[in-house]
Amino acid sequence: MAGTILMGKPIADKITEDLTRELATMKEKYNMIPSLASILVGDDPASKSYAGRQQKSAAKIGINYTLHELPGDISENKLINFIEDLNRDNSMNGIMLQMPLPKGMDEQKVQSAISLKKDVEGITPANMGLIVYDKPRLCPCTALSAIKLVEATGVEIYGKELTVVGRSAIVGKPVALLMLQRKYSATTTICHTATAKVGTLPKHVGNADILIVAAGSPELVKGDWIKDGAVVIDVGFNWVNGKTVGDVEFEVAKEKASFITPVPGGVGPLTVNILLQNTIEATKWQME
Ligand code: NAP
Repeated sequence: MAGTILMGKPIADKITEDLTRELATMKEKYNMIPSLASILVGDDPASKSYAGRQQKSAAKIGINYTLHELPGDISENKLINFIEDLNRDNSMNGIMLQMPLPKGMDEQKVQSAISLKKDVEGITPANMGLIVYDKPRLCPCTALSAIKLVEATGVEIYGKELTVVGRSAIVGKPVALLMLQRKYSATTTICHTATAKVGTLPKHVGNADILIVAAGSPELVKGDWIKDGAVVIDVGFNWVNGKTVGDVEFEVAKEKASFITPVPGGVGPLTVNILLQNTIEATKWQME
């Protein structure tokens, strides 16, 4: 029997509802409206359109959103100074940096300039370190979105076999580390290109009760590798012959999975809401 298609939109709508309620309470109790500063360097059209979507979603729930558009030829030092000014600006609660930065800039160095409590994308070394300590505060949005989807299935995570395909700093590693937290306690395996090269990717995929794939390789994971009844979260977003496809061979995989996210429509719709959720979390952290 085909598995349940796990759509992101209803979960995203529920997050919007919860955040709207939380913002109303913050306003009533503390007269506080969180503010998010978004930095766009250069004129990458995809980043611009993403920033536009963020702005619309922020306005919908009542978060102040300011887009700072900086020239593509700004120096790395000037960009870092700009971020440091925002760090000191008490009227700003969150700072996010639209990616990619212009060629030649050290993205990690620039991201690391964002102060811990304003790091709404959860990408600074300090926030990543808190995940390792099992004390996460602000976590990468896509990793949290994948976990929200797993939680939405209601499937027990404790002690289950989790395989993550991909070890990037913004998705694969944080999602694996978050699922290792005691509150979830998944038994976690992380795969990458070396796993594929030595030929053990099908084995690790086949072992997974919960599979999270973030490789950026179209239909890398074949449907018939998947364990019967597995929960499959496909983070991949690839453009092939004018169509978006995931990292999992969806049509075959959906016959084996108990729950599976489609691409598009699975993880994608959640990420902006999680960013806004992080902005509220950051604001609360600054008020502690
Ligand atoms: P990334 O930085 O390129 O990392 C990809 C990871 O996958 C790497 O660890 C790489 O292994 C591994 N990998 C690539 N090809 C592989 C293969 N053939 N076999 C096994 N492992 C392989 O990518 P990312 O930023 O994590 O993004 C991953 C995917 O998620 C992309 O498609 C991206 O567009 C998508 N994404 C979607 C959203 C969303 O909102 N829906 C947000 C972020 C990302 P090595 O480390 O060995 O190179």
